Amino acid sequence: MGNRPPSLNWLRFPVEASLGRRFPEAIHPYRNPFQRDRDRILHTRAFRRLENKTQVFAPGLSDHFRNRLTHTLEVTQIARTLATALELNGDLTESLALVHDIGHPPFAHAGEDELNRQMQRFGGSFNHNLHSLKIVESFEHAYALFPGLNLTFEVREGMVKHSRDFKLGEAKEIDPYLAGQRPPLEAQLIDLADETAYNTADLDDAFSAGMFRLEDIAEAVPEFARILELVQMHYPAAQPHIQFLECQRSLINLLVSGLAEGTATASIEAGVMSVQDVRLHPVRLVRYNEPAKATNGELKAFLTKRVYYSPSLLEERTRSVKRIADLFQFYLDYPDRLPEPYRMQSSQRLPHEVICEYIAGMTDGYCAKLHLELID
Ligand code: MG
Repeated sequence: MGNRPPSLNWLRFPVEASLGRRFPEAIHPYRNPFQRDRDRILHTRAFRRLENKTQVFAPGLSDHFRNRLTHTLEVTQIARTLATALELNGDLTESLALVHDIGHPPFAHAGEDELNRQMQRFGGSFNHNLHSLKIVESFEHAYALFPGLNLTFEVREGMVKHSRDFKLGEAKEIDPYLAGQRPPLEAQLIDLADETAYNTADLDDAFSAGMFRLEDIAEAVPEFARILELVQMHYPAAQPHIQFLECQRSLINLLVSGLAEGTATASIEAGVMSVQDVRLHPVRLVRYNEPAKATNGELKAFLTKRVYYSPSLLEERTRSVKRIADLFQFYLDYPDRLPEPYRMQSSQRLPHEVICEYIAGMTDGYCAKLHLELID
């Protein structure tokens, strides 16, 4: 099972140091601001819509596949475990994990790529992290006194910066969030917790869809071969899907432990003494140790080769891309068919931006239904 990683408690982001909310609010008697942010995120409409958004596998084939909601919960579990093990701020980490995909458009990465392609026709772009920020800043209406959720600065910062750093001046929406600096470790954790969660989950979903056998994974991922050998020695009579789950458990443990250890080692070697040092450090400090990094890379290569470009997924992707492209064009041609308040906005703002925001908020099911009604 490996060892407990060392604590990084001096790098924990203290909730008392938060730069706070845009609109000041009275403090809650027993929930701190990061806990309240978590609760606000959980109660949004955008969070509930994740249930009907594809992660990788469209739900038609099986009831057991991850969707973007269950994926989000798995990321949250892994991120929470890491934050607890390293003694970082679990509340901040949890809020960031729950919100990390809230701006994801319908139809997974194909949907995101297609919206980006549509926006590029007009010299724009689409990025789901920036869309997430718009959701929590203005699209969610839950409070009488302000638009959006009025989240703390650190949660908003982590939302836009969790997956990569931005230079000052690179994106005007990100400049106010200490562009040019690294986010705290709690936010840096999210990206690799996400990667750990989806690589192992995609392996599980694809295995249960019958896309490969245990031996195929073992051939491509040496660490999986070692784990499989142990599992088959201990449980020779177990069904392959049970052997798979035994292997997957060890694999997740190896990646999560490797991530905790790699992060602790990097932080200690860098000599960072405070959150401010983490912010000013030239590179991110959350990383896998070498064995976990190698295994994760092999896993990713295997999934890319055997799963992500498989004919059934490509077919689904082509259909999804077409739906988004058709709807985008339909609303460009007939902006008066947009529902309120988008219709009103389309006459005051650039119509393609309004259309993009409307489509990005849709679930897969709604997008497909609308396509059927308006175009097919
Ligand atoms: Mg994710």
